Amino acid sequence: MAATDIGICEFEQLKRQPDIFHGIFTREGQEDVLKTTPLIFLNQVHGDTIKILKKDDNDWLENFQSGFEPSIADGIVTDMKDVFLVIRVADCQAVMLYDSKKKVIANIHSGWRGSVKNIIGKCLDTMILEFGCQPENILAGISPSLGPCCSEFVNYKDEIPENLWKYKINAENYFNFWEMSQDQLMDKGVKKDHIENMKICTKCNTDLFYSFRKEKTSGRFACVISMI
Ligand SMILES: [Zn+2]
Repeated sequence: MAATDIGICEFEQLKRQPDIFHGIFTREGQEDVLKTTPLIFLNQVHGDTIKILKKDDNDWLENFQSGFEPSIADGIVTDMKDVFLVIRVADCQAVMLYDSKKKVIANIHSGWRGSVKNIIGKCLDTMILEFGCQPENILAGISPSLGPCCSEFVNYKDEIPENLWKYKINAENYFNFWEMSQDQLMDKGVKKDHIENMKICTKCNTDLFYSFRKEKTSGRFACVISMI
């Protein structure tokens, strides 16, 4: 991770891609995100719906310019250039994907509910089926989010299905959602060395990032990816 003085964190492997612009905007960098346009926001509802945006969808830009309502979805995939896919989080993960061969990007909102629904796997399925992506060509980045140090789920028996209890740490009620996401990526064929997790816990780093668990406010930080 590299944090610039305008408050953007970047994934090392995505930073090396010449046709990718991306960034995770810290609290200080939030205003810079508005300088990028067109920004595509989603109406995030902790579901597993994936919005598909294809470059041959000619109506799209016209609708966008006339100020359409954000789609209700928690993931978005596109092969369009020069659109900025935005996921806003505070403890949840933003997971960015890029297939450099097919030139397809995705951005996913995966909180614990998204993890339980495996929205990461569903987004990869969408990339494969709709865009012909090969998982072995996909790079993945996991944003700052609630780390295993702070992911306590006292009601986990009601909230998290038993097949995911293997991600519980020791005998405590803490879960490792970072590892769960890595496994969900690898289960679909993404290579381990193509997965970059910043491993920054938002609750432990509220000087840089918003944390819902720590602050109980609606502040969220933006995670943005675009092909340029
Ligand atoms: Zn923590």
